[in-house]
Amino acid sequence: MLLSRTLNSYLMRHRTKINLLVCLSSGNANKSFALVGFSASAPPRVKEDIIDQRKKHLRLLEEIKQHDLPWAIGNCAEAETFAHMDSIGRQLPVAVNDLHGMIAVTLTLDLKDQSPVGPCAQCSELIYKLQSQLSCAIFNLAPVKGDNGEP
Ligand SMILES: [Zn+2]
Repeated sequence: MLLSRTLNSYLMRHRTKINLLVCLSSGNANKSFALVGFSASAPPRVKEDIIDQRKKHLRLLEEIKQHDLPWAIGNCAEAETFAHMDSIGRQLPVAVNDLHGMIAVTLTLDLKDQSPVGPCAQCSELIYKLQSQLSCAIFNLAPVKGDNGEP
């Protein structure tokens, strides 16, 4: 079993999701970075601190719309990993004639049952804006669900 019973009961209570982000260099196929991040599952004050920190590291979060979703912008697991994309992009060699300096692949799983979760409307907007801002291509490996998923 992947998760211990203690961790599993925590995850059932807090509905935590994990995001895997892999960034590949367009200039050198052997250069890549992989990161994992979690949704901000914590007591309210701690959660606010986590989200504030994410907004400081990823200023683009301030431009993302609420999309009528019940969770705070920056709560999703994607907000934690995507905050590192700019600094990763600066460390990767870029092909001179390539359209994108970096290629990123992202996958979010619900840790409750390890099922893939597509990006919510907030994260979809974030992906769209990040692709433009960082001149990179971001491929999402999980389908977008009709109910916009949950953080
Ligand atoms: Zn999201």
